Amino acid sequence: MRAVRLYGEGDVRIDEVPEPTEPGPDEAIVAPLWSGLCGTDVKEFTGHGGSIARKPHPLTGAGLPLILGHEFSARVVALGPRVEGVAVGDEVAVMPLIHCGRCLACRQGEHQRCAMKAWTGLSDRWGGFGERVLVRSYQLTPLAGISAVAGAVIEPAAVAVNAAARAGIGPGDTVFVAGAGAIGVLTMMAAKAAGASAVHVFELNPERAAFVGSLGGDVVPTKDDIPGYLRDRTDGLGVHVAMDCAGKPAALEACVASVRPGGTIGVPSVHPGATPFDVRRMTRDDLTLVGTVGYSRTLWEKTVLMVRAGVLPIEKAVTSKIPLDEIVTRGFEVLAKPSDETKILVQVNE
Ligand SMILES: [Zn+2]
Ligand SMILES: [Zn+2]
Repeated sequence: MRAVRLYGEGDVRIDEVPEPTEPGPDEAIVAPLWSGLCGTDVKEFTGHGGSIARKPHPLTGAGLPLILGHEFSARVVALGPRVEGVAVGDEVAVMPLIHCGRCLACRQGEHQRCAMKAWTGLSDRWGGFGERVLVRSYQLTPLAGISAVAGAVIEPAAVAVNAAARAGIGPGDTVFVAGAGAIGVLTMMAAKAAGASAVHVFELNPERAAFVGSLGGDVVPTKDDIPGYLRDRTDGLGVHVAMDCAGKPAALEACVASVRPGGTIGVPSVHPGATPFDVRRMTRDDLTLVGTVGYSRTLWEKTVLMVRAGVLPIEKAVTSKIPLDEIVTRGFEVLAKPSDETKILVQVNE
C-alpha cells in the first residue's frame, strides 16, 4: 500500500509499504477516506516539532520513518472477533489517542493524561496517510450521518471543544481567540456553540482573517492595541476568556492582557519554546491559565454529537482537498511557508 512517511526534517516520502495483516481480537483495519494535514505534521516537516516518536515509542514501538496522519475519517475493512458496535463497510472517525489502559490516569478515565499515550499518525506504526490503518476498536466512532469530509475534521474540532470547555466558555461570555489557523477557527465555532455572545479573533494573515470573519468570528482589525480594542467592546473590562490558538509569545501576551479580572486564558496551542509572560497580572487580577492536550473521551464523543446535530459546522474549515500523490507539493511545502490555507484534506481512498 502507499503511505506517507516522515524520515526527518524536510523529508517526507510516499512509500510502498506492507499493509497491516489480520486485526487482533480487539483491533480493526480501516481504509482512510479523507485525512487532514495538521500544523503538528508541518512542524515535524520543518524541523520544529517534538510531537512524533523519533525513537521507538514505549507503548507502540514506532519510530522513524513514521506514517503520518492523525485526523481522518475511514471505512472499516476488517474487524477482530471481539469488536462490537461497528460493522465492515461502516464509515467512522478515528480517535487517534492510544493509551496504556493500566496506569492511574487511564484507570481514572483520563486517557489524555496517560504518561505512555501515543497517537496514530504521530507515534504509532500506522497513520491516516496510509491506505490501510490498524487501530484499536476503542478508537472507532461511527459517523452515522456525518460526511466523510467532516469526519476528518472531528479530531481538531475535539481539541477545540475540549479547550473551550476546560477554559469554561459558557453562555454570554465574551471571548478572544488569538490566531485563525484550524484550531483558532474551530475554537471560534466551539465558543459560539457554547453560547458565547461575541468571539473576537485576531489573525495576522489578512486572507485567513477574512475567512474566519466569513464564518462568524468578529475580526480584530488592529494589532497595535488588542487589549484596548477589546476593552472598548466589553465595558472597559476585557473579555471573559482568551484562547491562545497561535502558540506564539505575542499571542499569549495579548491573551493575558485581554481578559477581565477573574478571567481565564486557555492554551491549546503548542509553543516552540519556554514562553515568558507577566505572571504578576495572574495574581493581581485573579486570573486562571488552562493548558489542554487532546481531549477527554467524553468531549470527543460530545464533539461528534455536536457535529451530527449541525451546531458545529466544521466542514467549513476545509479550504483545500488534494490527492495523496500531491501531499508534498500541494500540502507540506505549501503549509511550510506563510499560507492562506486553514485545513487541507488529503483523499487517501475513494
Ligand atoms: Zn492535529
Ligand atoms: Zn495509561
